[in-house]
Amino acid sequence: LLFDEDFVAPNRVVLRGRRLEHMRSVLGATQGDQLPVGRVNGLMGWGEVVTLTASEAELLVTLDQPPPSPLPFTLILAMPRPKMFRRVLQTSATLGVKDIWLINSYKVEKSFWQTPWLSDDNLRENLTLGLEQAKDTAMPKVHIRKLFKPFVEDELPALLQGKVALVAHPGTATPCPTHLNKPTALCIGPEGGFTPYEVGKLEEAGCQSVHLGPRILRVETAVPVLVSRLFDACL
Ligand code: SAM
Repeated sequence: LLFDEDFVAPNRVVLRGRRLEHMRSVLGATQGDQLPVGRVNGLMGWGEVVTLTASEAELLVTLDQPPPSPLPFTLILAMPRPKMFRRVLQTSATLGVKDIWLINSYKVEKSFWQTPWLSDDNLRENLTLGLEQAKDTAMPKVHIRKLFKPFVEDELPALLQGKVALVAHPGTATPCPTHLNKPTALCIGPEGGFTPYEVGKLEEAGCQSVHLGPRILRVETAVPVLVSRLFDACL
């Protein structure tokens, strides 16, 4: 995945550090190889490794194919604790989630919002790690909403238009569907779960509560399980 700052000329990029390491160790690239490359929300194509040293790689890039359409999957997630957050970002990017809304909830500790992982650079780094894993280039957009009520009342109803909208809530009556394969918005609660008031507000905005059976999954497990259960195309 190539960013503006990687380009030293319109068709040449230089990679260093972790991304050089990824190219060599994970992709096993050597001089002369053709690697699939892509731009965030841009074109895809090939990069020929023209120079490879211990400290940098130079690629000659040809970009011409349009990017794959990202899955129309919107994840609305109560802000997870920092130690889970990076994993959730990476997994969501790997599975092709298009938009990630990080929202507040009564059981989200205030300190979770202080995490350095919310900076633009760290968000991009973790989403990139997830995309590289999947060999994808469509970077999910991250939206941060620190106030629950204005988000669910003023923004959520419009955001749910044209989508199947679900809130994963243990113990509710309706089982979570499988193989939905339609534009979907899915809300996942915090470690302590959404409160009854919050579930009521999400339902008022247009979400249906669904359960996954008696096993209670951690947020970092609930995200990949639910996304892959609802969308065949992500795996
Ligand atoms: N004690 C909390 C409760 O009852 O809501 C458990 C919260 S769980 C650790 C974190 C989030 O993952 C939940 O808010 C829900 O969105 C999702 N989740 C985990 N297991 C689930 C299940 N069996 N059914 C539906 N949602 C589940």
